[in-house]
Formats: sequence, structure tokens, C-alpha cells
Amino acid sequence: LAKEAGKNRYQLFDQDRDKAAKFHRHFIMLLGEALIRQEFILYYQPKVELNTGRIVGAEALIRWQHPERGLLSPAEFLPYVEGSELEPLLGEWVISTALLQAATWADDGLKLAVSANVSADYLMMPCFFDQLQSALDRYPDLPASQFELEILETAAIGDLRQAVEVLERCKQLGVKFALDDFGTGYSSLTYLRKLPLDSLKIDQSFVRGMLEDGDDLGIVEGVIQLAGVFDRDVVAEGVETLEHATILKKMGCRVAQGYGIAKPMPAERFVAWCAEWEGRTEWHDMISAVA
Ligand code: C2E
Ligand code: MG
Ligand code: MG
Ligand code: MG
Repeated sequence: LAKEAGKNRYQLFDQDRDKAAKFHRHFIMLLGEALIRQEFILYYQPKVELNTGRIVGAEALIRWQHPERGLLSPAEFLPYVEGSELEPLLGEWVISTALLQAATWADDGLKLAVSANVSADYLMMPCFFDQLQSALDRYPDLPASQFELEILETAAIGDLRQAVEVLERCKQLGVKFALDDFGTGYSSLTYLRKLPLDSLKIDQSFVRGMLEDGDDLGIVEGVIQLAGVFDRDVVAEGVETLEHATILKKMGCRVAQGYGIAKPMPAERFVAWCAEWEGRTEWHDMISAVA
């Protein structure tokens, strides 16, 4: 009897797996259609320099403006993109769109570095370099150093030597590289030593926890020092309060990003936000007061 029940269970699992696979394929098809219909949009979240209060960057974060379900966050659809044939297509769209925005802002006299997220998976594809190069070629007036790629590890970088090669080729185009979510996932000290990175982004989970949790505080401080040793720039994510920023500044973190400064916003709002930021006196007071 037990054997019989076991067999049925397996059949059920198979059916579930089949259903899940069908749904997955269906969802990828919907995402492909959404790309054609231009339903994806990039929001931008400012990065602020803690020594000066200057707005030094904007990170592009993808959203899906779904006709019925409203604005969907990347967590709701990116997992389906990963490993599918859509990955290089959507990746290329993100790079092109973020570059267009960077060029538009540069034309308007807004001098900041725009960054786009790329999965390590996409970065390692043979098409990546060519796509990046031809996207950059479209904006000859934009200094490539004002464009940055944030590398996300959805899987461990298998071939580190190849990754170093790819990054070095891209760096010759002038773009910069940041390692995202540093301290979580697969990122290791070997990456930090070998990859030609310009900066590290301290994962928001450590930053958010550091006021209550001494271990998190220690990690944040350690990453800032580590970045210094390796001569990398450092950006803290998840800066939700003025208190976070104050501590980060004291610890020598150069750049901060988080809801406390601003949530990601549509590009059209960004310029108005820059003016609002000038009026955030409690932040500017802290920035000029804390050494
Ligand atoms: P990420 O690159 O580490 O981006 C930071 C995420 O944290 C963003 O979520 C941002 O909205 C959120 N965040 C920023 N400040 C705070 C804060 O103070 N508190 C809290 N609780 N959250 C904050 P979002 O936009 O939902 O993106 C999630 C992740 O999806 C990104 O994490 C990135 O891994 C991925 N992603 C976003 N856009 C793209 C894209 O265009 N391409 C790829 N491949 N991945 C993307
Ligand atoms: Mg990022
Ligand atoms: Mg991150
Ligand atoms: Mg993240």
C-alpha cells in the first residue's frame, strides 16, 4: 500500500513539475511580448556623496508596467528571465535604455554616472561585449566613464579567468564596474582580488541591520576597509535613515543610496528631485557637520 501511495505521489510531482514548466514557458512568452510592446521601464535611484552631498549617480532599476497588474518589481519577473533566451534581449534593452538616459541627462547638463544592473550570466555571453560596444557607439558625446555596470551574481562565476578577460575588454571601452550585493551570495575575496572592479556595493541587508546588530556593523566596517585596501570605491545600499548615513560617513563610506535619500523614481521625476534634495537641510547639515 505504501508503495502504491508513493507511486501516486511521484505521479503528482511529475504533474506539478509539468505544470510549472508550462507556466514558466508561458511566462517567458508573455515577457517577450512585453518587451516588444515596450512595457518595461527603468526607474532611477540617486546615489549621493557623503562628503559633499553631491548627487553623483543614478542606478537604473527595471519595472514592468503591466497593463492589468500595474507596476511589477523585478523580483516578480526577473527569475523567469534568468537562464532563458530572453536574458540577452532584456539585458541589451536595459543597457541601451540606461545609456540613452545618461546621454539625455548629460545633454541637459546633469553630470552623473548612470549605472545598469547586469547578471554575471549575461556578462559572460559571447554577445555581451558587442552589444555593449555598439550601444556605447551610439552616444559618442557621452564619456563612457559616466556609465557603470553593476554585476549581479545569480550564479557563481564559473570561469574567473574568462570573467577577468571580459571585464578588461569592457574597461577598455571606458565603462566602470561595480560588484553588487557584496558580502552575500557567491561573491568572494578572490573576485575582489582578481576582477578589475571600480567599486563594491555593500548589500543593503547589512546596512539596514547595522544599527541593531553589531555583527552587521562589523561587516559594513570591514567591507569599507577592505575596499580601501584594494583601492576600490564603496557604495552603501539600503540607507533608510539619516542615522545610517551618519555612521557610514564616520566609517569612511564615500557614497550612499537608499530610501532615506530617495526611492527609485521615473526618469522624468529625477531632475525635480535633484532640486528637492538641495532643500533637505537635515541631510546637508549632517554632511557638513560630521567629519
Ligand atoms: P539591486 O541592484 O541590489 O538594487 C537595489 C534594490 O533595493 C532595488 O530593488 C531598490 O529599489 C531597493 N532599495 C534601494 N534602497 C533601499 C532601501 O533603503 N531599503 C530597501 N528595503 N530597499 C531599497 P528593486 O528595484 O526591486 O530591484 C531588486 C533587484 O532586481 C536589484 O537589486 C537587482 O538585483 C535586480 N534588478 C533590478 N533591475 C535590474 C535590471 O535592469 N537588470 C537585472 N539583471 N537585474 C535587475
Ligand atoms: Mg544594483
Ligand atoms: Mg544591491
Ligand atoms: Mg539586490
